[in-house]
Amino acid sequence: MFARALALALALGFVGLSTAPATAQVAAKDLFGRAKDPAPLAARAIGSYARGCLAGAMPLPVDGPAWQVMRLSRNRNWGHPVLISLIERIAVGARSEGWNGLLVGDLAQPRGGPMTSGHASHQIGLDADIWLTPMPGRTLSATEREEISATSMLKDGVREVDPKRFTPAHAALIRRAAKQPETERIFVHPAIKKALCDFAGSDRGWLRTVRPWWGHYYHFHVRIACPSGSSGCKNQDPPPPGDGCGKELDWWLSDEPWTPAKPGTKPKPKPPLTMADLPQECRMVVDASAPAAPLANTPLPRPRP
Ligand SMILES: [Zn+2]
Repeated sequence: MFARALALALALGFVGLSTAPATAQVAAKDLFGRAKDPAPLAARAIGSYARGCLAGAMPLPVDGPAWQVMRLSRNRNWGHPVLISLIERIAVGARSEGWNGLLVGDLAQPRGGPMTSGHASHQIGLDADIWLTPMPGRTLSATEREEISATSMLKDGVREVDPKRFTPAHAALIRRAAKQPETERIFVHPAIKKALCDFAGSDRGWLRTVRPWWGHYYHFHVRIACPSGSSGCKNQDPPPPGDGCGKELDWWLSDEPWTPAKPGTKPKPKPPLTMADLPQECRMVVDASAPAAPLANTPLPRPRP
């Protein structure tokens, strides 16, 4: 009888055993997705772009001198301070290319980490999506920021930009972002990369930073390298040498990357990342100060003295 009661108490977590293993199996996106505020710790990107978290995040102000943040309800305008100041610099600088200002999409959640929807990366506060739709010359309402759709830069049904939408000002904006010293990579649709290869002329060094990827024809994605002071932040391998305008781009523009997998050959979707999949220190980032909502399996806070 006693043994059964003890087993039940153990199962329910009433006995003072560590609850860490239980929480370790929780989908990390649920824990990070509910954090409303940053971890009050020194700024630090922890882990890698698609497997990590962010301490000491700063918000990008929702209205700046040369930008407006979109989709405010997502609360994803958080980043490492180095990323925040880079976006501000790109936005202000883009005025000299004829941009009134930039519309800024997702950066990271307040404590980084996996997201409940939308991105595999953007986890350590070093990634940002910038819309290719120009900012209007007025302040958008919160509703407009939810509802306005970004504009595709592609011609319908082909892997080619529409020059009426993707203009030299767009190319100059991406070049500006690629030339910033912090920028490690920029992701764009292969058709945009092709347009940039044609645009670049003899100044081609920055093209190496601009990498083709699926999607990314409504926005471009800026990724910065690990900032100094971010111990435990893992950089990606540098991109291959060269401007990337040759064979690699030919492959991206061929049918192969766009052909759907035959039925039955598709790999199974990966299970969501758990806390155990993330660097150990992300536990500390989730737990720092009061979480926004009480979590199951976390100890009750001690009474204040
Ligand atoms: Zn992105």
